[in-house]
Amino acid sequence: MSTLFSKIIDGELDAEFIYQDEHLVVIKDIYPKAPVHVLMIPRKPIINLDDLNQEDEALMGYMMMKVPQIAASLGLESGYRTIINTGKGGGQEVFHLHIHILGGGTSLPFV
Ligand code: AMP
Repeated sequence: MSTLFSKIIDGELDAEFIYQDEHLVVIKDIYPKAPVHVLMIPRKPIINLDDLNQEDEALMGYMMMKVPQIAASLGLESGYRTIINTGKGGGQEVFHLHIHILGGGTSLPFV
């Protein structure tokens, strides 16, 4: 199933790209909940954490290692919040795994 984020990754829908490489993209959230709010999305259309397979272990490690680099590139020296929503009960709206990276504010929301 093609998700909103797959369409963005494939260039069928517009988004503001912050970073991209062979494994992942980082885009600005269209409805930012903080002064800085971006989404790190693997190119592989994994649904959420519950959909992970053993073969995704390296990719997930790669993503987590990339988070501080992206945060630093966005000027979030004083810190940032990362959120992964899993399933409807976890507040997930787009069923393509993504890591929210939020910062730049004095009080941050739970997305
Ligand atoms: P979640 O609730 O964790 O699934 O988060 C989905 C996020 O995607 C929300 O923060 C939305 O604001 C964001 N979003 C929805 N549509 C777009 C879009 N076209 N471009 C960028 N971000 C989007």
